[in-house]
Amino acid sequence: MYATVTHPIPRTEGCEVCKARAERESKMQEKRMNEADNWYQYFLRSSIEIKHHANLRCKQRAISMIKLKGSLEDGLPISLHRKPNGDIHMVIFTSYKEGTVYRPLHICVAITAGRKCIVKTIYDPRSQPYKWNASYTKRICWCKEDNS
Ligand SMILES: [Zn+2]
Repeated sequence: MYATVTHPIPRTEGCEVCKARAERESKMQEKRMNEADNWYQYFLRSSIEIKHHANLRCKQRAISMIKLKGSLEDGLPISLHRKPNGDIHMVIFTSYKEGTVYRPLHICVAITAGRKCIVKTIYDPRSQPYKWNASYTKRICWCKEDNS
């Protein structure tokens, strides 16, 4: 599956069904970028807990925890959502080097209402290319069940 994908799957930009939602989401996220940057700085200064699920994904995808930490330092928040319980969920866009090429990587992090900083999961967005724009920095489709 993931291991056999060597280059992004060519696709047209966007999903007709989700077009309006993608535009709304994009505008909303742009307004939240300063807030996301601030929370991300907070996250990087805190001690970070890595969920077993994230750990497992790292191993499955041959991304070491050392690389994950390096990737976190270089990351860029691409979305921020506040959950009803006060938790903040962010997706951090970054990349890692595989051989001579850089691969995109998304790191899903949470800052709980009690200010615990957690890495929830990480994935290569190329595994579900329909969801993302060409640079994997904006979500453009929600049609299928999220199983990442
Ligand atoms: Zn869609």
